[in-house]
Amino acid sequence: MARIQILELPEGASDERPPFVLVVDETSYPTTEAHHAAETRWRQFAGDIGARACLVTDDTLDIPANDTSAYLGAVTTDSETSGPDFVSPIARLVEVRRPCPYCDDRQMIPNHQFREHVARLHPDEYSADA
Ligand SMILES: [Zn+2]
Repeated sequence: MARIQILELPEGASDERPPFVLVVDETSYPTTEAHHAAETRWRQFAGDIGARACLVTDDTLDIPANDTSAYLGAVTTDSETSGPDFVSPIARLVEVRRPCPYCDDRQMIPNHQFREHVARLHPDEYSADA
């Protein structure tokens, strides 16, 4: 069965939102004509959702940013683990961010850089958040 993925592209200064490519891989159309017909439909869809481009292929394309295998089995219901789990296998893979209340666009700042961000960009607010 075909898979639908998103490949994010580097963002330009004039981009209103992150540019991306729609990737449809593991297709298995019986004929070249069927492939081209499906590709036309996927390209139409890609245009509808604002993708910069569309890639339709029968190859398997693994996009590292879309790899969620680290999350398998990571969900826990143990009531003792109420805080962050720093020994979890996914702990090193997940970057916790929080919205900056002082940036107009509520920019998402990595938690470990938040204090430095506020101190550097919002020095008037720094003492309140420090
Ligand atoms: Zn800010």
